[in-house]
Amino acid sequence: MATPIGHAEDITLRALKTLSSADVIACEDTRVTAKLLARHGIERPLLSYHEHNAERMRPVLLDRLRRGESVALVSDAGTPLISDPGFKLVRAALEEGLPVTTVPGPSAPLAALLLSGLPSDRFLFTGFLPPKTAARRTALAELAEIKASLVFFESAPRLAAALADMAAVLGPRPAAVARELTKLFEEVRRGSLAELAARYAEEGPPRGELVVVVGPPVAEAAPEGAALDRQIETALASMSIKDASAAVAAATGLPRREVYARALTLAGRG
Ligand code: SAM
Repeated sequence: MATPIGHAEDITLRALKTLSSADVIACEDTRVTAKLLARHGIERPLLSYHEHNAERMRPVLLDRLRRGESVALVSDAGTPLISDPGFKLVRAALEEGLPVTTVPGPSAPLAALLLSGLPSDRFLFTGFLPPKTAARRTALAELAEIKASLVFFESAPRLAAALADMAAVLGPRPAAVARELTKLFEEVRRGSLAELAARYAEEGPPRGELVVVVGPPVAEAAPEGAALDRQIETALASMSIKDASAAVAAATGLPRREVYARALTLAGRG
C-alpha cells in the first residue's frame, strides 16, 4: 500500500479503492491517515501499527487476515517497508501462506533518483547513514566500490556534514539533493559532492525532508604515456607479449591492438 510522499494527490486510484474496501487500515499515525482518508471521503476503521507496538499488534493483524479480513497497511508517507514498518508483517503473513499484494505508488528514493539526472540502471538504496562522522565514514567506505548510483535518506541538520564525508570517502562524484519532493517547494540541487557540501555548509540546513543521490564511481582514466609503459613492462616481466597485452588491455579498457603495438616496441621488436 502506498500513500503520497508529499502531495496528497500523489495517491493512486487503486490505492483509494483498496483503502475504501479494506476491513481495517493499519497505519503509523492514525491522525495522519485519518486526514488522508477524510480528504478522499473514505471511512474505515484504523489500527495503529508502528515501530513501538509492532510486536504486540502483529498477531492481531495476522489473526484478522486468518479470518479472511482484508488489512490495508499504509505509512505516514511514501511506500510502507521502505524505511517504514511492514517488513515483518509481510514476512509473517507469507510464512502462513496468507495472501499479500502491493499497491505501488510514490516513494521518495525513487522520485529522487529519477529527478537526480544520475544513472538509474543500477542503484542501491541504503536508507539513513549513521549520524556520527566516524561510523558514517566506515559505512561509506563499504559502499565506495559499488558500481551503482547510491540513494540515501538524510536529515536536514546533518546534510552538510554527511555530504562532506561522502566527498571525502566516495571521491569526486556527481550528486543531487532532492528536497520536499512533490510538494510546493520541491527543489533538486545538482553538483559534485564537494560543491554541494560547501554550499549547504555555507547556507545552513535546508528546510524539510530530503534524499541524497550520488552517481556511480567515476571510471578511472586509462593510463597513457609513461604510466602505460610501466604497466606493460611490469606485465612483460612475467608474460609473453601476447598475454601481457591482453592483460593490460583488460585492466585498462584500452584496445588490445594498441597495447600490443606498444608492447612490441617496448620489447624491442616494434
Ligand atoms: N516510506 C517512505 C517512502 O517510501 O518515501 C520513506 C520513509 S522514511 C522514514 C522518511 C524519509 O524519507 C525522510 O527522512 C526523507 O529522507 C525521505 N522523504 C520522505 N518524503 C520526502 C519528500 N517529500 N521529499 C524528500 N524526501 C522525502
